Amino acid sequence: MKTYPPQDGGPDRDRRGFFRQALGATAITAAAAAAASVTARADPSTVRPPGNDAFGDAPEALTPSGADFELAHDRSVYAYTTKDGNLAKEGFEGKRWGMLIDLRKCIGCQACTAACKFENNIPTGVFRTWVPDVELGTFPDTKRAFLPRLCNHCERPSCIEVCPAGATWQRKDGIVEIDYDLCWGCGACVNACPYDARFINPVTKTADKCTFCSQRVDQGLLPACVETCVGGARQFGDLNDPNDPVTKQVLSEVVQQLKPDTGNEPRVFYIGLTTELQNNPPGVPTLWSVEQEDMNRNDHDWGIATDKGADHV
Ligand code: SF4
Ligand code: SF4
Repeated sequence: MKTYPPQDGGPDRDRRGFFRQALGATAITAAAAAAASVTARADPSTVRPPGNDAFGDAPEALTPSGADFELAHDRSVYAYTTKDGNLAKEGFEGKRWGMLIDLRKCIGCQACTAACKFENNIPTGVFRTWVPDVELGTFPDTKRAFLPRLCNHCERPSCIEVCPAGATWQRKDGIVEIDYDLCWGCGACVNACPYDARFINPVTKTADKCTFCSQRVDQGLLPACVETCVGGARQFGDLNDPNDPVTKQVLSEVVQQLKPDTGNEPRVFYIGLTTELQNNPPGVPTLWSVEQEDMNRNDHDWGIATDKGADHV
């Protein structure tokens, strides 16, 4: 059985300490974080050489890697205003939450999927996070991979741009939220998201998606999926804080984002993402129900037409 070395600052991170820091009065200001992030950017010459993916193979295309990822908290056009110009309703000033998922540690147990369902009261048939397992290659040379999926809380979220109701916005700390009172369920954002992270909630009839469990984060707790992750694969942290273990790994490890060419600049990073999955992520449990009907899908069909992504980017 293949074993992998532990990640620097990974599973041993002090979560209580991290959130004391996140919530403390000494929180870093946006300006200080910006300056620190610039100095913290990894010198490409000192970045660890590319690691192997979850199968021990050398990655072929890593875009962007820890070497060239820029901490871009100040580049989002929606960071401080909603679509109608009002100040963002909530969020931590100066924070930029992000998630790092080490695929070498994910065992596909779906504990995160279940925890999210319980925490956020998500009805059956739809998911805010899910972990498709896929078979790669051709028999007999096949491999099995797990790929946790969720909203990427993009720096440049295409879902906000298209919302005719101004119902979706980005908080100061980067979390992309939905105002369920304003959303009329037109599905424009569902179709605009290149990551298939959104769905129409069959109970509320509004758009729905992962919120990084903002109701928990705002109280100093980790997102439910991170809290429950059996393999310690999911980590959550402040990308504006150069001392945050997640930021350190994003800057020093070889990390990947899904569909990096969309221009959305996702803030969910992966370690060990295979090139095959990076631009064609599998496993959409449900799309907008009408679209699903049109495509003659049923609840058990988690496959997605490979041209869907192309339609959306
Ligand atoms: Fe919006 Fe999709 Fe990006 Fe989430 S992943 S912020 S839903 S575009
Ligand atoms: Fe993978 Fe962790 Fe989710 Fe289990 S809980 S499927 S190990 S990400």
